[in-house]
Amino acid sequence: MTAAILDGKALAAEVRGKVAEEAKRIGAKLGRKPGLAVVLVGENPASEVYVRNKARSTLEAGMESFEHKLAASTSEADLLALVAKLNADDKVDGILVQLPLPDQIDSARVLNAVDPAKDVDGFHPVNAGRLATGLPALAPCTPVGCIMLAKKAHASLSGLEAVVLGRSNIVGKPLAQLLLNENATVTVAHSRTRDLAAVSRRADILCVAIGKPEFVRGDWIKPGATVIDVGINRVPGKEGKTKLVGDVAYDEAMKVAGSITPVPGGVGPMTIACLLVNTLRAACARAGLEAPKI
Ligand code: NDP
Repeated sequence: MTAAILDGKALAAEVRGKVAEEAKRIGAKLGRKPGLAVVLVGENPASEVYVRNKARSTLEAGMESFEHKLAASTSEADLLALVAKLNADDKVDGILVQLPLPDQIDSARVLNAVDPAKDVDGFHPVNAGRLATGLPALAPCTPVGCIMLAKKAHASLSGLEAVVLGRSNIVGKPLAQLLLNENATVTVAHSRTRDLAAVSRRADILCVAIGKPEFVRGDWIKPGATVIDVGINRVPGKEGKTKLVGDVAYDEAMKVAGSITPVPGGVGPMTIACLLVNTLRAACARAGLEAPKI
């Protein structure tokens, strides 16, 4: 068997196209473009690339992008003051504070200061609680993207055995919650789980977010299962270069799985696309408009 590839790049392009159409429709009702503010503190090169890509995608989708770049020495009080200003700014529908933040700043305090109605990262405890209790919520972007990819392989996730490896607040836990909301039977595994391989082999949908290169081997996968690989790991490649690999041994998994997300080009591109979707959702909810159909 050779697994079908779940192409995140293509799906993300499709989603971004729908976002652009909806942004026009919603913008006409709001009398302005939906707007996303991104805050970057310091000069982390990876974060700078992410923020640049987010700003470009926001503009391409016909939305307003507000970029705030602050010095690495910025105090927590100054960052909180900026967040308060963005919370109060009516043109800003979504606020994203790029992580990691410098050591002098308490990330949790800053993320908790973002208005939950503008929390397009879905990291605020109010949104986590709403998601967990089945209320409408802004859910974290990467897990939302994983669900969209899984639905490319299955018309319905209802009744399927889903196993999530990893229980972080930004990926594993919200992904498990979203899978439950789709009526999957969900198991969450982590570093204390006994016999990860046996637990993984139960999965019709195996989602892996542990941050360990090629950790999940081919014989951990049930034949025909759908594999969603969230991991992004940079490892040594050929001729002194580096390359990106996921948390799943791709070549082995290809021979067993029914479908699989590649790394790069799987979950990664979906994260920014879902950030744009969340910005539209936030704009609609704040204005009392019907949610976008994406
Ligand atoms: P964290 O480090 O926050 O969490 C890792 C989780 O994996 C923890 O729950 C940990 O368990 C578990 N874990 C670690 N080692 C093992 C092990 N040996 N066996 C079983 N479980 C283990 O990572 P994130 O959730 O933030 O990210 C996970 C991966 O996803 C990373 O590679 C990251 O780069 C990638 N990522 C990709 C994104 C994208 O856009 N595609 C977005 C976000 C992340 P425990 O809780 O017990 O410690």
